[in-house]
Amino acid sequence: MKWSSVNTQILIGAGLGVLLGLVVNHLDPASPVRDASIYTSKLVGGVFIDLLKMILIPLLFSSIVVGVANLQAHKQIHRVWLTTLIFFSFSTTVAILLGVTASHIFQPGAGLHLSMFQDSMQSIPATRLSISDFFIQFLHDLFVNPFAALAQGNVIAVVVFALFVGIALVVGGERYRNILALFQEFLELSMRIVGWIMYLAPIGIMALLVKLVATQDVSLFSSLWKFALVVSGTTLIHGVIVLPLILYIVTRVSPLTFFRGARDALVTAFATSSSSATMPVTLRCTQQNLKVPQEITGFVVPLGATLNMDGTALYEAAAALFIANLVGIELNLAQQLIVCFTAMLASVGAPGIPSAGMVTMVMVLQSVGLPAEAIAILLPIDRLLDTLRTSVNVEGDMVGSLIVQKVVESK
Ligand code: ASP
Repeated sequence: MKWSSVNTQILIGAGLGVLLGLVVNHLDPASPVRDASIYTSKLVGGVFIDLLKMILIPLLFSSIVVGVANLQAHKQIHRVWLTTLIFFSFSTTVAILLGVTASHIFQPGAGLHLSMFQDSMQSIPATRLSISDFFIQFLHDLFVNPFAALAQGNVIAVVVFALFVGIALVVGGERYRNILALFQEFLELSMRIVGWIMYLAPIGIMALLVKLVATQDVSLFSSLWKFALVVSGTTLIHGVIVLPLILYIVTRVSPLTFFRGARDALVTAFATSSSSATMPVTLRCTQQNLKVPQEITGFVVPLGATLNMDGTALYEAAAALFIANLVGIELNLAQQLIVCFTAMLASVGAPGIPSAGMVTMVMVLQSVGLPAEAIAILLPIDRLLDTLRTSVNVEGDMVGSLIVQKVVESK
């Protein structure tokens, strides 16, 4: 079977998944067909995500080690570092500004009051997460026993340790050429397994979307539709206009070429709501379809999947302003800047798993004295909003890889 046909099947699978999900959603709640469909989709979708997670850590580790070792050898590492960080910060800032501007224009919380959500808020205990605690926690999580990190799937700690190993391999030079060769072969091997998993992607993505759509309670949208619309619309603008525009300006790669190459990863991100689980697909699309060399994707994609989350940052800033509206607090300019800054930190700190953004959002709310319990208002619709923001998070990593490649090659 050709790669291009799997590509088409993924799109068909996604479309079918949404349609079937809608049908199941409208079945009688007591119907055994409904239960059986949800059970089957949970089972199949779960296996697909498990397979992606299975290969994630071996792939992540070998990919960074080999990427960094090759880059160091080419003496390009500084350019790559710098361009990656500049791009990540720039695109996240633009995303946050978009979210804040849209919230100001459309005022999604206007007309609603916090008291309308009292019941749901009582169901969640407020956990404190101040900025200083966040920094301590974040630093603490970076340097971890690598064997524990590998075993527990602790992505950020694996990234950090792999960076160390990659640099050490280059500093050690010839002495460690066998270890480097081993990692190179291990990486190839991991990518081969990703290729196999991709054969299951059409059905896995279909199952995940059936379950997602079938289990949504649309009535929850009645009071939050405006907020959901503003966030989704702005996230789409960022993903469909802003990021492709930045990409085109810097690299001249057309949006069509980009989306054609990137779509498997975008659809997988949409269905899984997890940048981490999508990472094997992201790496594959960026290398094989968008033709970015391994030493660049091996560095930019894993780092981006953990640190660069434009969709999450946009969401967190917009959600904080929405909640301020509900509470009836008018945030002044300084407070809004604090919201922007903490939204950026929160997106960096959020792991690439479903609804991670909701957890780090507590910090954004507390930074300007908003009630942390208010996240309970957004929780019921979060799984749906997470689809789009995860796709944009993943898109940012692929755009970043192409931009870094262009900057490095234009030297
Ligand atoms: N689900 C998102 C991701 O994996 C994180 C978030 O909740 O915003 O990228």
